Amino acid sequence: MSQTDGAAPSSPAVDAIVTGDELVREYSRGGGGGFFGSANAPTLRAIDEVSVAIERNEVVGIAGPSGSGKSTLLHLLAGLDVPTSGTLTIDGTDIASLSTRQRGALRLETVGIVFQRFHLLDSLSARANVAVPLLEAGHSKSARRARAEELLEAVGLADRITHKPGQLSGGEQQRVAIARALATDPALVVADEPTGELDSESGARVLELLGTAADDRAVILASHDQQALDVCDRVIRLRDGQVVGRQ
Ligand code: ADP
Repeated sequence: MSQTDGAAPSSPAVDAIVTGDELVREYSRGGGGGFFGSANAPTLRAIDEVSVAIERNEVVGIAGPSGSGKSTLLHLLAGLDVPTSGTLTIDGTDIASLSTRQRGALRLETVGIVFQRFHLLDSLSARANVAVPLLEAGHSKSARRARAEELLEAVGLADRITHKPGQLSGGEQQRVAIARALATDPALVVADEPTGELDSESGARVLELLGTAADDRAVILASHDQQALDVCDRVIRLRDGQVVGRQ
């Protein structure tokens, strides 16, 4: 009745999609280290004891000057990278308990990723690009086509389905990338400087789509573009790998 031993000391927020507790990510500064590494090898602390909890239905910005650790934190929260220390939980799973392969499978199912430079495959149509995660997830060809077309329609590209990236504007390419990120209906979408290559009008459209995506998932957006930070429900500010503000 009064047993409290089982209670987690810091249980994650009820609807948290991703939580990081005292996350640290160190990089080797190169040189030294020996075959097995060395305690004396110089390291850079790109992320220094950062704790975050990102919940469904929110758009969270990660801001800070160049080199402050935005991309590093985003890559951790997306499961693209693992922390040097600290606890990272994505969709209820402690990342430390997974092999690289299992982490890839979790990412495919749970995380959609949007990059600054779109990262589309040039030789494939918009529809085939959007279908890539569905192919990896083992969906049938007809299901892939139907889902990709539905998503391209949703991002306003119904008339660009068979176009290749080279035939599309930057804003259109980023919208294809957003459709691809949403293909497996992930619980989390992360975007790294998604408007960095776009004019402000195309950027606004991309941001509107990312905001809409948060209607039933969480969106994390790393950017130093004020236009992007303005659409966020809250912003975590980094400097030298540490949180220096939460708004
Ligand atoms: P931001 O996205 O805010 O520009 P980053 O996360 O890219 O910041 O980088 C944070 C710090 O970590 C910088 O000092 C950067 O030089 C360093 N860094 C990032 N990636 C690596 C890496 N793969 N190896 C070594 N240092 C890195």
